[in-house]
Amino acid sequence: MINRKPFFIELELTYKCSQQCFYCHNPPKDLKFYIADKAPKPRSVIEMNELNLSEWISVINQIKRLDEKYEGIMDVVITGGEPLLRSDLEEILSYITRQKLRHMLLSSGEPIFDDRITKLLESGLEKIRINLTSHKYVFNMQSPIMHIKNEVTKKLNIAKKFKDFGVKEVGGNIVLTSYYLNFLEEIAKLAYKSNLDWIEIHSVIKVGHGYINQKFIVQILTMKEQFKKN
Ligand code: SF4
Repeated sequence: MINRKPFFIELELTYKCSQQCFYCHNPPKDLKFYIADKAPKPRSVIEMNELNLSEWISVINQIKRLDEKYEGIMDVVITGGEPLLRSDLEEILSYITRQKLRHMLLSSGEPIFDDRITKLLESGLEKIRINLTSHKYVFNMQSPIMHIKNEVTKKLNIAKKFKDFGVKEVGGNIVLTSYYLNFLEEIAKLAYKSNLDWIEIHSVIKVGHGYINQKFIVQILTMKEQFKKN
């Protein structure tokens, strides 16, 4: 029998983001998509229609009721866009913590400052997953491997900072596009050396820019071949 209990819920706090992923599933402003073989452009997004703090509190209360109904199985994933761009992120996180809901923050790790990490810890942050592949400068690459190493190293340093400040579990993820396919081993070595608690590899969701730019997306079969090689 299929278990139909909900065990995972994502709160997309905002569409705003500090990154420019060419596969982004968030709606672009005025539906202006860009094609990924051109120079990168800042990716404009719809900035309205965000729920405010009291509306999120109401959503969290509903999640709490569901969690009680299903005997505490829910995991609450806080994401965006970039959740760090919400100035009330700490208040939302504190409320989720006070409701004793398990939670994890998904972030690109940018922008981040020391005092923000401290505030997030005070709000109950225990688990975060940082996206290691921002794709921000991917089209200007003179030397792809140098670019990717620099990019991933920068993100790993951000992840390490969270760990050094005392966040219990810090993981990383790679969104796999054709630009990264040949460098998986390098990325994995860098991640391994940095003592991340875990690393995930995700395929692109074919929605929004992910649909428009799907020729740059790695198909599942190609992924399997690459893993066999490595
Ligand atoms: S990090 Fe996520 S929300 Fe931000 S641009 Fe990339 S895919 Fe979009």
